[in-house]
Amino acid sequence: MRSPIDDYLHQVLQDCRDDDAGDVMSGNRELERADPSSFGIALATVDGTVYTAGDADHEFSMQSIAKLPAYALALRDRGLDGVLDRVDTEPSGDAFNEISLEAETGRPRNALINAGAIAVHGMVDGDSATERVDRIADLVSTLAGRELSIDNDVHSAELASDDHNTALAYLLRSAGKLEYEPDEVVDGYAAQCAIKVSCRDLAVMGSVLANGGLSTTNDDESLLEGWITRHLLSVMATCGMYDGSGSWMAKVGIPAKSGVSGAILGVLPGQVGVAVWSPRLDEQGNSVRGVAVFERLSRDMELHMMHVA
Ligand code: GLU
Repeated sequence: MRSPIDDYLHQVLQDCRDDDAGDVMSGNRELERADPSSFGIALATVDGTVYTAGDADHEFSMQSIAKLPAYALALRDRGLDGVLDRVDTEPSGDAFNEISLEAETGRPRNALINAGAIAVHGMVDGDSATERVDRIADLVSTLAGRELSIDNDVHSAELASDDHNTALAYLLRSAGKLEYEPDEVVDGYAAQCAIKVSCRDLAVMGSVLANGGLSTTNDDESLLEGWITRHLLSVMATCGMYDGSGSWMAKVGIPAKSGVSGAILGVLPGQVGVAVWSPRLDEQGNSVRGVAVFERLSRDMELHMMHVA
């Protein structure tokens, strides 16, 4: 039976459906095939209830949202100082794939742009690229509460158009920020981008982050350390929406991470994880309808973190 919250989400979906601005991601033959009319919303509360509307169970590749679980593992494996040695935590204000490293330290500005995420992937422990990717996919499965897999077609398509990320990886190695072979890291990074999830998976994963790293479906089992969860949410709040992060925080006020397949994951600490998926992107690479839905939910449900009565 549909609850009033499901009904509300359906209404939001209907209201935002007519917006057909933006374009699906270009330059990746698999992402280019996405159906631009796809549109799903899922909202998962910290008490384990999930509400959905539209294509909430349709799978797509995580893309940049996979930067979060990879970051979590690097923090777990190397500790905060070990990770900070190689990747800073400052918003860059640059595009997601900007070729920029800090002049004095050679560090990428943050872990949620490609340069930082490639360095982060290179700090996940594992004897091979496959082992590192498996560990990242396993963590996503644990957080989402079901076994997830990698879309091999998306992975190959990523590799077929990955010169830019390969350049970033070599630049990182020349700055002493990468210990594994650059090509192997780029392969693993492309595979993490290709992990298949649905809005429901992302929302559940978000609810775990909202719950301080404790499971929302299995008796508060600890899935992610509290300090790692806090760190991820902080960096999402300042750097999660590419070069649109500042205006997002002012307008929507929810720590979030978006990906170029058209998904946005938002987390309101102590309350909910919300995921929206719709493949048409704005100039910053954020889902047009995704942003519209979040603006609406933030307003209607008073989800802005800086909410004042
Ligand atoms: N696979 C994409 C890339 O590395 C992911 C980018 C994104 O979602 O921001 O370029």
